[in-house]
Amino acid sequence: MGKAIYFCNSCNETGENNRNLDLQYFTSDRLNFKRGYIYEKSCNGNTSVCPYCSGKLLKADISEEDYVTIGNVSNDNRQLLDSMADLHKKDIIEYELKMSQFRNQYEQGRQAQKQESSSNSNLPKCPYCNSTDIKKISGFSKAGSVALFGIFSVGKVSKQWHCNSCKSDF
Ligand SMILES: [Zn+2]
Ligand SMILES: [Zn+2]
Repeated sequence: MGKAIYFCNSCNETGENNRNLDLQYFTSDRLNFKRGYIYEKSCNGNTSVCPYCSGKLLKADISEEDYVTIGNVSNDNRQLLDSMADLHKKDIIEYELKMSQFRNQYEQGRQAQKQESSSNSNLPKCPYCNSTDIKKISGFSKAGSVALFGIFSVGKVSKQWHCNSCKSDF
């Protein structure tokens, strides 16, 4: 079991622990999911007093890692979170079975995202129109442009890529 996450009953009622958040960045589902749950890093070293309302802080039944995983795979479904916390109390085996499914799902999603972002960053893009429909200007066509146009093609020689979409070289 990983790091603990904490729970404040009073903040769960009032939503006080969300008060400093910039609301434009959070969906109502996200805010609902966060209501009452407090990360250890927000506790300033004291995990028995709520840093938002000074109420009593309790260790949540589920771990921080599981909390994050459930939020991720369910798009911040608070009902599911509450059911899982309940299940953790009542039937730990069933809970772990469900969690292992969620962890797989979360991991697959992360891998897919990683793959997508690394394949995107490896591909050079046209700096003018952002198109990835580009081709490398070959040494031959560089040499050819020097021979044919002499000094006037100096600009072209130092460029490495040609954009098929907006026709610029860069
Ligand atoms: Zn509180
Ligand atoms: Zn372009």
